[in-house]
Amino acid sequence: MYDLLLKNGRIYDGSGMPSFVADLAIRDGRIVAIGRINEAATRILDVDGLAVAPGIIDFHTHFDAQIWWDPLGSSSNEHGVTTVIFGNCGLTLTPCKPEGRDALIGNFVRVEAMPRNTLKAGIPWEWTNHGQYLDALSRRPLGLNVATLVGHCAVRQYAMGEASVEREAKDSEISEMEELVRQGLAAGAFGFSTNSNQSHFREDGKPVPSRFASLHEIERLCRVVGQNQRGAVQFTHGAFATPEHVARISQWYDTILGETRRPLIGESIRHRWSEPDLWRKQLDDVEARARRGAASFAMTTTRLALRRWALKDSNRLDEMPAWKKVMSMPLESRKEALHNQQTRKELAEEVVPSRPAINFSRRWDSIFVNKVYRTEHKSLQGKSIEEISGLQRKSAIDAMLDLSLDEELETVFEDSITQGDEKAVAAIFRSPYVMLGQSDAGAHVASANPGFGFGTFLLSYWVRQRGIMPMEEAIRKLTFMPASIFGIHDRGLLRPGMAADVFVFDPVAIDLEKPEQVNDLPEGAPRYIQHARGIRYTIVNGSVLMDNGAHTGAYPGKVLRSQGV
Ligand SMILES: [Zn+2]
Repeated sequence: MYDLLLKNGRIYDGSGMPSFVADLAIRDGRIVAIGRINEAATRILDVDGLAVAPGIIDFHTHFDAQIWWDPLGSSSNEHGVTTVIFGNCGLTLTPCKPEGRDALIGNFVRVEAMPRNTLKAGIPWEWTNHGQYLDALSRRPLGLNVATLVGHCAVRQYAMGEASVEREAKDSEISEMEELVRQGLAAGAFGFSTNSNQSHFREDGKPVPSRFASLHEIERLCRVVGQNQRGAVQFTHGAFATPEHVARISQWYDTILGETRRPLIGESIRHRWSEPDLWRKQLDDVEARARRGAASFAMTTTRLALRRWALKDSNRLDEMPAWKKVMSMPLESRKEALHNQQTRKELAEEVVPSRPAINFSRRWDSIFVNKVYRTEHKSLQGKSIEEISGLQRKSAIDAMLDLSLDEELETVFEDSITQGDEKAVAAIFRSPYVMLGQSDAGAHVASANPGFGFGTFLLSYWVRQRGIMPMEEAIRKLTFMPASIFGIHDRGLLRPGMAADVFVFDPVAIDLEKPEQVNDLPEGAPRYIQHARGIRYTIVNGSVLMDNGAHTGAYPGKVLRSQGV
């Protein structure tokens, strides 16, 4: 007798192996069988035609505070996420002495853009050390599994007080910090995070504590992770501004990796039109370290920074003088100009990638048709101008302008400031050294582009619409890869014996809904949430947590503690 039986789903087991159709049985919170299963079960779910995958492990969140007032971890719970890792970017709420609480909150307010009143009202402060923090969480009902990292800022604040934002640490202070990291890992944290991002400040304008750390300090704290033979190091820093900064960070990485022989998650790599080749250099650096034998990883976001615009009323193209001239004309003369062959030639000459770009791609393959107004154009929606130009056997400028003029210039086009170059994105996403996520879930609450649904967007947009990688590989990147790197060894795969964290979705229908603003933070502050479509079940430790987007009332989540490797 099984507790739960999923019948006839297509199993994407998380390993990247080809998917196959089978039944999956669960008992006592664990997967017990996969195959053709005819035994009885307390509950049977017919998942014919649906994908059955391990629950997503969101490895880069900032749920440290939100989890106390929102044990479901919304909206991550609506996107197939079953485990969240927080304590990233050096920021945690533990360890913390009572007199350090305000300062710690100040880090989150500024770096992660969370309202101070919300944090003041919502954090229960039932702890001073990492073990007590995890114990306090264990006493709460939880929807998702939670796992933590030891954050450098909290450790430094605990050991040094206000001096943590003023100077380098003395030897004795570093020793105390080492002990705090050791305690955190012993209590069950899955690693250590630090932050040297030069744009990260506390609420009072002082740099966050970890920015004052010397390489010697970071080396000694990371060495504790190595000695414990468990967990990973997460290292946050800003974009590589100068060659000196690149060299410095590179040296730090080499030192940490050499010291610990643990996985290190460093660079955030994404394509930007403003620095269109930087991603290649960053990827080369990670690959070079990996070739030298280090467990070196980078991360990237699946999100786009979309801009949508129509030729009726946009300044999106103003970086290009000929476009700016035409776009500044009154509507009727603008239409006339856009018909003119000579003008079209001038406009096309500016849409070439070799021209210096600031925020715009100047590439026809990265400008997409987002919305058309006439039914006969429906088939063009979602296609790039380059694709349409090929289909219609006309030049790209003609393809774009003919379409737009045919719709009174109302056709909506879109392009993205980041991750807009699909070839670059494909290289980044497919790299074995790059983790997909960087959702920052729980942080940046006022952002209208929240990260909860990074997996949903990966599966719907990049996999289904753009075909950037096979579904099997995308699932592996969302599950087995983070589980392996952080050492969550009984999750991230669908195999007998593994914890039954399962995500069931319709690969044809899965999609993001539009973000919505709600006022549900403590003290009534607003934030953005985002629902999903096409996600049938989210199962945590064998219990259905979410059924078609609705919470079932179950709280099956656990506090995960690292077990060593
Ligand atoms: Zn972060």
